[in-house]
Amino acid sequence: MGFDIKKIRDDFPILLQQVYNKPLVYLDNGATTQKPRVVIDTIRELQEKQNSSIHRGIHYLSEQMTGRYEAARETVRAFLNAASTREIIFTSGATGSINAVAFSFGEKFVRPGDEVLISEMEHHSNIVPWQMLCERKAATLKVIPFNDRGELKLESLDELLNDKTRIVALTHASNSLGTINPVKEVIRKAHERNIPVLLDGAQMVQHGAVDVQELDCDFYVFSSHKIFGPTGSGVLYGKEALLEELPPYQGGGDMVDQVSFEQTTYNTLPFKFEAGTSNYIGAIGLSASLDYLQSIGFKAIGAYEKELSDYTLEKLGAIQGLKIYGDAAERISVFSFRLENIHTYDAGMILDKMGIAVRTGTHCTQPVMDHFGIDGTIRASLVFYNNKEEVDTLAEGIKRTIAMLS
Ligand code: PLP
Repeated sequence: MGFDIKKIRDDFPILLQQVYNKPLVYLDNGATTQKPRVVIDTIRELQEKQNSSIHRGIHYLSEQMTGRYEAARETVRAFLNAASTREIIFTSGATGSINAVAFSFGEKFVRPGDEVLISEMEHHSNIVPWQMLCERKAATLKVIPFNDRGELKLESLDELLNDKTRIVALTHASNSLGTINPVKEVIRKAHERNIPVLLDGAQMVQHGAVDVQELDCDFYVFSSHKIFGPTGSGVLYGKEALLEELPPYQGGGDMVDQVSFEQTTYNTLPFKFEAGTSNYIGAIGLSASLDYLQSIGFKAIGAYEKELSDYTLEKLGAIQGLKIYGDAAERISVFSFRLENIHTYDAGMILDKMGIAVRTGTHCTQPVMDHFGIDGTIRASLVFYNNKEEVDTLAEGIKRTIAMLS
């Protein structure tokens, strides 16, 4: 299929509405993305005709649903190019996946005096679970700094990676700076010292194809709702050999083999890490979204987003008194900015009344704001269903906001 933006927008019913009698301009995709009709229809169909608990029933509906859930796992495997479905664990989202690794890996491998390495541009979801681990284990959290363009200072890695480092957890793309990190370089350097790397793909997967074997990352996480799927679902990819070594982090149904009061043995991968009734409808909804994306093709999506990104930078760059934070050479279509002498919250409220949905605040990256000595930014985050007209509306809206408030 070619890239037909008009047709693509028609696939997303929510985009067709008006707010405050203005056409909705939805530019808060970094927070959550909208769902194509095929995802909405899939969820409705599952709820109406197929709902049944998976893996345990021998009756028709349960077998059908189990089949579809496991097919969804295969879809995610193919999407990430993982070697096996045993490496694909369904979770509640990126946060759930990171907490799972921080707990399970931490229990097994982190000891007092060890170090965990993250970066200065992480989302709180990739900071706090590691901080909690470090507190539990008397380990130390270390941080890779970034420069004022929002690029990691890779030269600091030689010192930061050392014999005490147990794991590196790094965002693939920043939700507040837009930076795509040179993750392959970080992975290569970490692996020279046999240190595993977790990549937070929450802001990457919706913009470009990810190949975990090519990246050679040890863990990869993302959320379904940020890639046009339902909320409350997500993925943890882990290399099979490593997952085999890790203990389960939650106990309950489905993750067990045999249970007695004396001893419990655990299920095989990936079920060992899927305790309780999983969000099977969420997982299948996610796979519907991935199928939809594949039908458009990430090559076409990438080319379109690059053009849209360049256009947005040009339009925002031409506005007097607007300063963009994050100017990395490799970027996703996420733009953080401030308006001179105008509070971000005030600007966000006025833009909202024009029908423009942007996010204001720290975007769960307070250390990024601290780096620049600011209390927050306005963030416009675009995906492939946005268009140049919306960027024009944003630019005009910002100019009117400046005229009104300065
Ligand atoms: N990591 C990054 C880079 C994010 O942008 C987000 C959400 O904004 C998360 C993790 C957490 O995602 P979720 O809240 O879906 O678990």
